Amino acid sequence: MRCARLRETTRGFDPLAERVGRGTGPIAFPARGSGRPGRQPHDGSLDIASFRQAVLDWFDAHGRHFPFRGTTNPYLVLVSETLLQQTQISRGGPAWVTFTGQFPTVESLAAASPATVLRAWRGLGYNRRAINLHRTARIVVDELGGVFPRDVAGLERLPGIGPYTARAVASIAYGIPAGAVDTNVRRMLGRVLAGDPAGLKPRILQSAADDLVDPDRPDDWTHALMDIGSTLCRPVRPLCAGCPVESMCRFRAGKDGAAGKGRAAREGRAKPSTASARPARAAGRDFRLTTRWLRGRILDRLREAPGQAWTTFAEPIGDHDGAAVRVSLRAMERDGLLELDGDLPTDPRARLPLG
Ligand code: SF4
Repeated sequence: MRCARLRETTRGFDPLAERVGRGTGPIAFPARGSGRPGRQPHDGSLDIASFRQAVLDWFDAHGRHFPFRGTTNPYLVLVSETLLQQTQISRGGPAWVTFTGQFPTVESLAAASPATVLRAWRGLGYNRRAINLHRTARIVVDELGGVFPRDVAGLERLPGIGPYTARAVASIAYGIPAGAVDTNVRRMLGRVLAGDPAGLKPRILQSAADDLVDPDRPDDWTHALMDIGSTLCRPVRPLCAGCPVESMCRFRAGKDGAAGKGRAAREGRAKPSTASARPARAAGRDFRLTTRWLRGRILDRLREAPGQAWTTFAEPIGDHDGAAVRVSLRAMERDGLLELDGDLPTDPRARLPLG
């Protein structure tokens, strides 16, 4: 046990090193899909104990407080992680309070109709998240005795739960040292370990993220990396001067001690994207041409319909003609977002699903 602990606290991590083991033997980085990437011995370039301490000390002093933090109830954690997948945290926090006020337990969500859940999800977008959350609740209640799986693999088998969400729930709810890697954490760890988020294969980054989790505080670790990744390690102009791992970061240091600063400067240059440079009105017009916009309008109409009433879609919606509307109706039926009244006639009728 002592040896294991010693290795745990003093080993370094160098995912790009070609030579390892007291600075000698080469790491043969496995090609995609081979071996166990990220499990190679390390050469001490990143002291894991120091990295963990810097991250958690910063979190203790600067971590953000949200209404959904502090709970270890796997259902409540899953709701927060599902909400925050595509919703800004400023909206996600209040939305979590409202949603869990209406559905405080996994049993209450499972007992609701999909129509009720979709109405509660109004304004949050990406409505398949609501359907998957509801399906998961029913599986947990009907097939798993009301108990969520306590491991990453079991969580990943539930609808809508991918590698990130499974690890976030496992670490926050169960204290399992699993590294939850979302876009922000991928950018931060990629910069620290490789100097560039694109410098690590996804499987290697995931394995490294799993290895780096502080085994004594997996829940705080998950929150801490999310906070650093989103508030300091921003895509453009990262705030390296205030970052707790600045001295350990390859992006900041650069290979020769200057490249990182050069890269940071390049990334920090104000360079509007094509989309953001467009006049807002043109961008809004473009969005109205998308299937996503059309599906949102269809759902809005269904939400406004009272109770179990059918809504007829006889007219074009925006620039989408009747054929396009029917295609979206069929696709939304397949996704579980609505029910159709029979086969698709010229004037199709639909409603939110009741079952
Ligand atoms: S030092 Fe800069 S680039 Fe490195 S993790 Fe911190 S904020 Fe990101």
